[in-house]
Amino acid sequence: MSPENRYDNDRPEWIPYARQSIDESDIQAVVQALRSNYVTQGPRIRWFEDALKELTGARHAIAVSSGTAALHLSCLCLDVTDGFSGIVPANTFVATANCLRFSGAKAIFADVDSQSGLAQAEHFNSAIEGSVKNGIKPKALLPVSYSGSCPDLEGIRKLADEHDMRVIHDASHSIGASYLSSDRSAHRSGSCAHADVAVFSFHPVKPICSGEGGALLTNDQAVAKRARALRSHGVERSEETVTKIGPWGYDQVELGLNYRMTELQAALGYSQLGKLDEFVQKRLALARRYNDFLSQAEFKKVFERPLLDERSSWHLYVIRFQESSLRDKAYHFLKERDIGTQVHYIPLYRHSYYEGGNHEELPGSESFYKACLSLPMYPALEEKDQDRTIEALKLFCERVTA
Ligand SMILES: *Cc1c(COP(=O)(O)O)cnc(C)c1O
Repeated sequence: MSPENRYDNDRPEWIPYARQSIDESDIQAVVQALRSNYVTQGPRIRWFEDALKELTGARHAIAVSSGTAALHLSCLCLDVTDGFSGIVPANTFVATANCLRFSGAKAIFADVDSQSGLAQAEHFNSAIEGSVKNGIKPKALLPVSYSGSCPDLEGIRKLADEHDMRVIHDASHSIGASYLSSDRSAHRSGSCAHADVAVFSFHPVKPICSGEGGALLTNDQAVAKRARALRSHGVERSEETVTKIGPWGYDQVELGLNYRMTELQAALGYSQLGKLDEFVQKRLALARRYNDFLSQAEFKKVFERPLLDERSSWHLYVIRFQESSLRDKAYHFLKERDIGTQVHYIPLYRHSYYEGGNHEELPGSESFYKACLSLPMYPALEEKDQDRTIEALKLFCERVTA
């Protein structure tokens, strides 16, 4: 392969902003799945789902082919479909809003806190008030655990209950994280203590990886049953169908999809899940180390570091620049030094697809977007590479403040 078309991640000097951590035991787990009698619809899906239930405390876990698939099924199972709408933070990945559109529902955007990038109950409340003024009563709120920190899910649940709305927690960033409720008790992200449904993603940049993959978690038996059917063409197999039709019996009860996860993905996900705590601890240690170094005055003149949320899964480590032009320059400056960074996220209303849906600019989201930059953060990030990133940032700050 010529050097021109090598992928960045194949260059030894390149530090990506995120990447998977796969070891020999993960590889062996996938090889065993390949050698087994099932490459899809076998026992590993159950192992993985049971482990996800144990981790979160949620009563039901349904593994699917991606986080996006889990979000889509969430909307279908809660009937957030044609003629309805849901509220999504403007600062998220497009999939959070797209799931509403797949189901025929409308996406309404909530502003976010300009410091944390999170949409809290107050932001959802403003979005509800705005929609009601326009004659629309949203059916669901979709809080997002941006960067790995959970928003105030208890407050958001309360707001949803006041308005008879459903809650879909997009926990794609926050498997392994937890949050406190007002009585100081701790809840695992994905537990659905304050949500009808929670969703994880196992994309390689997320806390654990299954290649592609996702999961839907819920405490609602009916939602779980429906999600299981919809994941596999809307087909149900029960004692009833067997009695009625015969031992080969199955019945398509509604229009479903093929959103199944393979045994290869489940094997990898299950193996990775055993390392989740270790991964999150490594991320937290890196976040502490960044925060210690970046507290020095020379950095603070140029950017702010994030608050150290000890309960976050630290999917992203996001700094905020005083000026948008400096953020843009820093991105290029670091890239020239083989350090990958990313902007999370371009507010949803800025995308061509969502333009013209009378989505106004939201001030918190705009200012967060213009300031934010995600620095390299993943369990296998070595201290020497973190040091190289910090040194490069130091040089950048010296140059722009000289
Ligand atoms: C990654 C991500 C998704 C989508 O997950 P996929 O597994 O890539 O489909 C949805 N929402 C958020 C916030 C994400 O970061």
